[in-house]
This record gives sequence, C-alpha cells and structure tokens, in this order.
Amino acid sequence: MESTATMAKRGLVMVITGNGKGKTTSAFGQALRAIGQGYRVCMIQFMKGRKYGEVLAAEKYLPNFTYYQFGLDSFVMRDNTAPVDIDLAKLGLEKAKEVINSGEFDMVILDEINVAVDFNLITKAEVLQLVRSKPSDVDIMLTGRYAFEELKELADMVSEVKEIKHHYAAGIKDRAGIEY
Ligand code: ATP
Ligand code: MG
Repeated sequence: MESTATMAKRGLVMVITGNGKGKTTSAFGQALRAIGQGYRVCMIQFMKGRKYGEVLAAEKYLPNFTYYQFGLDSFVMRDNTAPVDIDLAKLGLEKAKEVINSGEFDMVILDEINVAVDFNLITKAEVLQLVRSKPSDVDIMLTGRYAFEELKELADMVSEVKEIKHHYAAGIKDRAGIEY
C-alpha cells in the first residue's frame, strides 16, 4: 500500500458562506496556514476592487501568494449590475479555470464567487463545471454569502458564518484594518 507521504493529496472543496462578518478573513487565514505548510496559493477575488490589508501584508512579507482581483472599487448592487460587472466576473472565471488547471497552485481561493453567482454575473453551471473538472489534488475554497444548494452538496466542507450582531448597525463602518 502507498504510504501517506507518497499518496496523492485529495484536494478539498471548501465553502464559507453566511451573512455574518468573517468569510474573506477566514479565506485569507486559510491561505496563510497553507503557505506556512509550503503550499502555493492563488486567490481570485470577484466583485471587489479595494486594496485589502491582507494583500498589502502579503506583498511585503509573504511569498507563494498570488492574487488577482476582478472587480471595481464601487459596490455592485444586486438589481443594478452593469455590463462591466459581468465582463469582470467572466474574466475572473476564466482566470480561475486557468490557475486551477495550471499545476502551479496547490490551493485556489475564489473569494466572493458565491455572490457573483447570486447576482447572475456568472452561472451556477459554470461554477459546478469548474469545481467538478478541477485536478484531484488541488484544494479550492469558494466564499461569499448566498452559496447555492448544489455547490454545498458537492463540497467536502461548508461553514456558515452567521451574524449575531455587527458594528455596522451602530454606525461604525468601513474601517481600514477591520473591513479591508
Ligand atoms: P470580512 O472580509 O471582514 O471577513 P466577509 O467576507 O464575511 O467579511 P462580505 O459579505 O464579503 O463579508 O462583506 C464585505 C463587508 O461587509 C465586510 O467589510 C464586512 O465587515 C461587512 N459585513 C459583513 N457582514 C455584515 C453584516 N452582517 N452587516 C453589515 N456589514 C457586514
Ligand atoms: Mg467577503
């Protein structure tokens, strides 16, 4: 029998969803943990254009972290998506296919991809196809609220971050170092 050390790793499909704060930070935490163990990690961020603190830190201090962003700095509204939002999400999906199948990464994180599906920027079928056709040893993580049912069924791990309270309700919003 093959030993554990030589056995090909079984790549996991992990989903972090829910309406509370902590999904993207969880994904960056997972990336950091994986990099510490020698993984080559790629994160693709959908729908967001701002500079995240984790990315600023990674640029300065972290090797083996590759990052692509496909979004504008402005907020995308569910009922008011612009053609550019769709174009960017489609480019993000193409990039995701490329990096997942490149052999250059052990873990690929698709941050906010669930929201891109919910907002109809990309389809459920496209995401399911992407997940089903991934190389068996690549770990992938898909984040964002509103993860759809078939994806949750397909995944090996699903966690839901549930809001109990958020400082936004007290008028405290958008702090560097907390929100981005
Ligand atoms: P974070 O990036 O801090 O881990 P998140 O990825 O879970 O948050 P998103 O759904 O991506 O959260 O929302 C982006 C922003 O909205 C975050 O800056 C977050 O603080 C804020 N946010 C998240 N959940 C809530 C909430 N329940 N009420 C108000 N604002 C929220
Ligand atoms: Mg997020």
